[in-house]
Amino acid sequence: MDTIVLATNNKGKIRELSVMLEPFGLTVKPLSDFPEIGDIPETGDTFLENAFIKARTVAEITGLVTVADDSGIEIDALEGRPGVYSARYAGEHCDDHDNNEKMLAEMKDVPDEKRTGRYRCVMAAVAPNGTEIHTDGAYDIRVAHGYKGAGGFGYDVIVIDPELGCHVAELDSEVKNKRSHRGKAMQKLLKLWPDFWDKANA
Ligand code: IMP
Repeated sequence: MDTIVLATNNKGKIRELSVMLEPFGLTVKPLSDFPEIGDIPETGDTFLENAFIKARTVAEITGLVTVADDSGIEIDALEGRPGVYSARYAGEHCDDHDNNEKMLAEMKDVPDEKRTGRYRCVMAAVAPNGTEIHTDGAYDIRVAHGYKGAGGFGYDVIVIDPELGCHVAELDSEVKNKRSHRGKAMQKLLKLWPDFWDKANA
């Protein structure tokens, strides 16, 4: 059985990515299976840099092919913030609820037509032999005026999928996976996967 590591401790991401990797018959281990690794500082200025920092670090320590993603939300009315700082938008030790409250407060007086933005994701796969690939994906959203839905994670309860007209947290995980930034980056990664896997194991 082929084992890879998903370099994240975010349960929402692990759930989403494990489902997408299932068809490849891979055993997917979360970062929490390797407690010796601890927190990996995301010191990059871009999603690409941070995805590779995580994937390279974990591949080197575990000796296993590692997939990492870095993602976030960019809001046009906030000039692209919080971007790479999405997880720590409301401060170093904040949680999703703190972030959502801060976003709703910052967007309080922004009219509907200016509440546009997008989730972005860069996904990187790194093999211990140095083989590397990366892909990206985006998901257009609008910031809502309040909370709705119980699915997804992070900002999903306060953002709307404008094409479907509902909050992202109201979507079935399968529907979200097809439409999301992470889903699109993963679909692209899966297309590159057979060739990557050959080179990773050469
Ligand atoms: P990362 O773990 O450094 O990639 O941080 C990603 C952060 O961006 C998460 O903690 C969320 O706040 C936000 N984020 C990324 N993708 C999503 C999503 O699909 N739904 C909701 N929030 C997301």
